[in-house]
Amino acid sequence: MKIKNIKQWIGTFTDIDDFKQLQAQKDHFLGIASHELKTPLTSLKLYTQFIEMNLQKQGDLRNAEVAKRMDVQIDRLTELVNDLLDVTKIQNGKIQLNESYFDFDQLIDEVIKEQQMTSRHKIIANRSFIGEVYADRHRISQVMSNLISNAIKYSPDADEVLVSAKEENDLISFSVKDFGIGIPSDKQTKVFEQYYRVSGSKEHTFPGLGLGLYISSEIIKRTGGRIYVHSTEGKGSDFCFEIPKNKNIDDHA
Ligand code: ADP
Repeated sequence: MKIKNIKQWIGTFTDIDDFKQLQAQKDHFLGIASHELKTPLTSLKLYTQFIEMNLQKQGDLRNAEVAKRMDVQIDRLTELVNDLLDVTKIQNGKIQLNESYFDFDQLIDEVIKEQQMTSRHKIIANRSFIGEVYADRHRISQVMSNLISNAIKYSPDADEVLVSAKEENDLISFSVKDFGIGIPSDKQTKVFEQYYRVSGSKEHTFPGLGLGLYISSEIIKRTGGRIYVHSTEGKGSDFCFEIPKNKNIDDHA
């Protein structure tokens, strides 16, 4: 082999090593930073709720409303920090599913009710009775919330978001349809990648880290299912996940 080629090889290896080391440092930093941010955020939430309660008791409703808004923003911040923590967990292979049977219909109602509290869009549910599903209730609720809040966020000019769920051959499918900005076809698989965000909307800027769908797809994959999107740019998107309804016997053989 020519000397020049060998030099090129060594150069490439060093670049890859440097890159991996940088990547590891970044992940380590993210892990520590997000962990450290959690504690003050938890205290901040408690103090804010305490103030809000006192203001309400005193009849100072205007300031109570301000405290309530602070509380909502603290929740947003907590979600962002939780997303960063989840990414670190996924990278370290430490995201654990706490699976059991739970009432899927009840969970949908709960998630919709919670999302509806902070949204002007009407969230319309169209679902058949599903009953008990074997999965991690908390993580599935996280995925549902993520899909619904995205549908709301990325359809600023629409009034409705449609949520549907059905069962077919022991498979549960859950979908969220919006009438928003949509996703160009060449970007539709990329949105599930870490930190990926579609750029290019001139009229709007949307806040976010590009982690929600990555985390959601990891959760769904680990549950033994799949997540995908059908979307038309300028018309809207339909995000869907499918998971098995029952415990997979192979998992516990
Ligand atoms: P975030 O919303 O924080 O950017 P996500 O991982 O949830 O992160 O989504 C990744 C990207 O996919 C978003 O930045 C956006 O470009 C696109 N996206 C997600 N949901 C929708 C949707 N319902 N309509 C249009 N684009 C979407």
